[in-house]
Amino acid sequence: MAATINQETCVGCGSCVDACPVSAIKIENDKAVVADGECIECGACVGSCPTEAISL
Ligand code: SF4
Ligand code: SF4
Repeated sequence: MAATINQETCVGCGSCVDACPVSAIKIENDKAVVADGECIECGACVGSCPTEAISL
């Protein structure tokens, strides 16, 4: 399972983009999106999110 972003609680701050070591996350339309197949499930993004919008 790749990291999943709750589109309702994501505020598009970009913290997870900076936290991801493999650049799997991008901001599209002010929401974070995890690219298919790029997430290595490291968990780094989860703790970086101020709204706890990311789950693994
Ligand atoms: S779990 Fe790791 S690899 Fe996957 S999106 Fe989050 S920071 Fe990137
Ligand atoms: S850190 Fe959380 S609120 Fe910020 S862009 Fe990522 S998922 Fe959205």
